Amino acid sequence: MGSVQIVTTVLAAAITAVAVWLAVRAVLKMVAVIRLGQPAPERFTDKGTRARTMLVETAGHTRMLRWGVVGAAHWFVMVGFIVLSLLVLEAYFEVVSPTGGLPLIGGLAVYGLVTEVIAVLGTVGIGVLIAIRVRNRPTRPGGRSRFTGSTMWQGYFVEAVVLAVLVMGFVIRGFKVATDHFEYPVWATPVSHAVGALLPAWPAGVSVAALIKIAISMTWLIVIALNVTMGVAWHRFLAFFNIFFKREPARPAGSGLGPLRPMTSQGKPLDFEEADPEKDQFGVAQVEQFTWKGLLDFSTCTECGRCQSQCPAWNTGKPLSPKLLVLSLRDHAYAKAPYLLAGGGKDLTGEEKATAAQLAHLDVLTLAEADKPLIGDAEAGGVIDPDVLWSCTTCGACVEQCPVDIEHVDHIVDMRRYQVLIESSFPSEAGVMLRNLENKGNPWGAPQNTREDWTKGLGFEVPRVGEVDDFEYLFWVGCAGAFEDRAKKTTRAVATLLNEAGVSFAILGEGETCSGDPARRIGNEFVFQMLAQQNVETLNEAFEGREQAKRKIVATCPHCFNTLGNEYGQLGGEFEVVHHTQLLAHLVSTGRLTPVQPVDGGVTYHDPCYLGRHNRVFAAPREVLGSALNGGGRAGTDLIEMPRNSERSFCCGAGGARMWMEEKIGKRINVDRVEEAMSTGARTVAVGCPFCSTMLNDGVNGKGAGEQVEVVDVASVLLRSVKPDTAPGEKETAPTAG
Ligand code: SF4
Ligand code: SF4
Repeated sequence: MGSVQIVTTVLAAAITAVAVWLAVRAVLKMVAVIRLGQPAPERFTDKGTRARTMLVETAGHTRMLRWGVVGAAHWFVMVGFIVLSLLVLEAYFEVVSPTGGLPLIGGLAVYGLVTEVIAVLGTVGIGVLIAIRVRNRPTRPGGRSRFTGSTMWQGYFVEAVVLAVLVMGFVIRGFKVATDHFEYPVWATPVSHAVGALLPAWPAGVSVAALIKIAISMTWLIVIALNVTMGVAWHRFLAFFNIFFKREPARPAGSGLGPLRPMTSQGKPLDFEEADPEKDQFGVAQVEQFTWKGLLDFSTCTECGRCQSQCPAWNTGKPLSPKLLVLSLRDHAYAKAPYLLAGGGKDLTGEEKATAAQLAHLDVLTLAEADKPLIGDAEAGGVIDPDVLWSCTTCGACVEQCPVDIEHVDHIVDMRRYQVLIESSFPSEAGVMLRNLENKGNPWGAPQNTREDWTKGLGFEVPRVGEVDDFEYLFWVGCAGAFEDRAKKTTRAVATLLNEAGVSFAILGEGETCSGDPARRIGNEFVFQMLAQQNVETLNEAFEGREQAKRKIVATCPHCFNTLGNEYGQLGGEFEVVHHTQLLAHLVSTGRLTPVQPVDGGVTYHDPCYLGRHNRVFAAPREVLGSALNGGGRAGTDLIEMPRNSERSFCCGAGGARMWMEEKIGKRINVDRVEEAMSTGARTVAVGCPFCSTMLNDGVNGKGAGEQVEVVDVASVLLRSVKPDTAPGEKETAPTAG
């Protein structure tokens, strides 16, 4: 070993020792913070599916690749990072000896080729990512950036390190070429040979370049170890765990979350008959009351801003950004952690758990952080502003976009649950809806005995469950479908089409109450449970004696469809639930319904969040509309898609119980969506949800475009094509809601 190698070896060992010590300390700290969360035993089920999903999502980059160029570039950088680790390891042999290399695989032409190719593609990939970050920087003139609120220096730092380490790999190899110590052929490593042709034959060059490469890599490790909230770097390690422990590993990648989690306390679902707010946790009021998976979510955020770029609240000027919400919770959790780890924290009655001696060593900033209310406005010094919390429509766009499977909607609803159930603090206008649900079983407060009014004048009998036993489908009408004038037209259209197709169905009539979706999404789990239990009982009775496959329900409201199909199982109600567009698509494809009249004037389709993103029903409504557009086989026009459609559809603004809250901040979400729909030039905007119908109709009317554009359900479009002379329900006017 020459004198240069002695120096490079000592320096490499010293910086590595410091970096590894700091990194181990950082990992222990992160594990300790994440373990502060509440238990989540359900995250350890079905490990095979979890492992498969994790491998597919990481190795296949299934989330990222939807972003085309960015996804491809990030894939090469990820693979480059793994290979880079091998090359960094190799550098430790090279600081010791200029001819050094990895044992066993070092020297194999195939190793030289693979590392060369990946290093070249990784260099191109990181160049692309840097260019995208610079082009989308928040400070650029004009336009909104998905990086707004992200810690930009951290992103630039990580990308610069990756670039520098890749470049140094070529420099090391170049010095080996120049000094004739390179063992790989030109065909396998052409770039390294080209770099070598430019470098002098400096014998110490290899070891010095290897030291620089190690120093850069270890500087990166030191910086991230000193910044445990640096998700842009830590996600490289945490993403695997976060994806493995996602809530619904079997759901297709990119789904919204669909059902909500039941309320839990100490990892067990809460039973409201026995629950005691002084002993059981009701939602989340302190950051440590999230589950450990919640704290892992916050730690894993890469600050990429994909969620923010799709969020309807953020895009219409509301204070909510799912990214900033996650970052606020993360920063608060890590700042409060020393207090919690010292034994601090409030019990469920609000009493401090730690003694003064336990907290004596903490600085004032930590104690001040611990004192912050989780939800509170600027004056109260809250971590999350109430306007942020209540702006969410639970549309799921953030969850669908997030490349590391962060579950924003669950966290938002958990915080809402505490605010509603314990603090009674929520937008006051929603109180009427909650009272109506409790007293009348529907959000409008309409009399229960008017639930069947929509059947009047249909020209055929709509049987009730109990009057007939051999019905194939139980038609779940929903509160909107029973009480809201526009939705009643859809209900009548569906009933007419089912009757036309010879499908036997029955309704619950006055036996039906609200599915509970608005209560659950606003955070009132108590009212949800009350309504859901009642409905589950009624439905179980209606299907008594039937096998699972014959417990079939058709629903016109995607919120009911989601709640009955995905959430009632939590309460012992297992049913086969379809949305009416799925059933209609089946009836058309099997020839039981025949469109005869093409629909003209152009049609566009708005995907409801709870049908599309949350439950991935994208094709069925499009198939129905396609058949209506080409009714009778005559040439019609194609469906005109809006720029934001399918997975990336833009919310109407009504989900998450926002339907019953005023929209006081920013641009109205429904207006934004209506402008997009009108930009297609279509005369008909087809919807598959009564709430979307209300919101988009309001938007069209607000723009004074009621004469040019019609918002109508997919079922009504089909009915016009199947029975051009019939338009049931078109004449209904008087609202029945109280
Ligand atoms: S669910 Fe929708 S509205 Fe709520 S934060 Fe996510 S993207 Fe925004
Ligand atoms: S998409 Fe996910 S990782 Fe990216 S900023 Fe949003 S929460 Fe963080």
